[in-house]
Amino acid sequence: MAQETEKISAGLITGLSLTIVYDNHSYQQGLASGWGFSCLITGPEKTILFDTGPDGSLPGNMEKMAIDMSGIDAVVLSHIHPDHTGGLESFLEKNPDVTVYMPKSFPERFKDKVQAQGAQVREVGQPTEICDNVRSTGQAGKEIKEQSLVIRTDKGLVVIIGCAHPGIANIVKAVKNVMKDDILLVISCFHLEWASKGKIEQIISTFKQSGVQYVGLCHGSSDKARSLFKEYYGPNYIKIGAGKVISLADLQ
Ligand SMILES: [Zn+2]
Ligand SMILES: [Zn+2]
Repeated sequence: MAQETEKISAGLITGLSLTIVYDNHSYQQGLASGWGFSCLITGPEKTILFDTGPDGSLPGNMEKMAIDMSGIDAVVLSHIHPDHTGGLESFLEKNPDVTVYMPKSFPERFKDKVQAQGAQVREVGQPTEICDNVRSTGQAGKEIKEQSLVIRTDKGLVVIIGCAHPGIANIVKAVKNVMKDDILLVISCFHLEWASKGKIEQIISTFKQSGVQYVGLCHGSSDKARSLFKEYYGPNYIKIGAGKVISLADLQ
């Protein structure tokens, strides 16, 4: 019996689905889109909302996508910028029965407000397990502290990143070093608006060296970055937009 329990907890995630709820591109008609990011993660033991977009349009998008907000157990906020946290208040109005994981460095008044809405606050400093096979990298970066999410699946690691303020290449390298596993997919807002072609190619080469197999670029990733990644990743470049659903089953 004990052996069986062990086997289950050591088991990797085999079914995973990532739904882009908010982005500056839209994949499905009728959804609000704009500068910001939000992604729903289903499949692990907990259903997790990663970032909340910029404003109160988040619940509306979820309703249009038939997402059951009451089924969400945890919210992970990558960093304090309003394009990632602005929709939290309107989400908590719909479902306050969640734990909100946020970098420890968030202002006290932010934490107080979340608690006042009835949600639990979990401050993240060091790497933190959210549930089986899902962990936060812990807060990283100098000026703007940011946490990223790593999901261990039977096909490799899935990494979900907010604005990538600590540097996208640094985050990917750190995940690879700490987790010692191949990276299947990186979804991130690359924030490479002003980056040169050379700089973007350097990042692509770090990705390739870290064994990243699939990429999805969200808001704040310039057209230049998108087209370069597309060139290097070919069919493994995933077009992101509000309404897009990525299933582990579709990734080889
Ligand atoms: Zn940001
Ligand atoms: Zn952002």
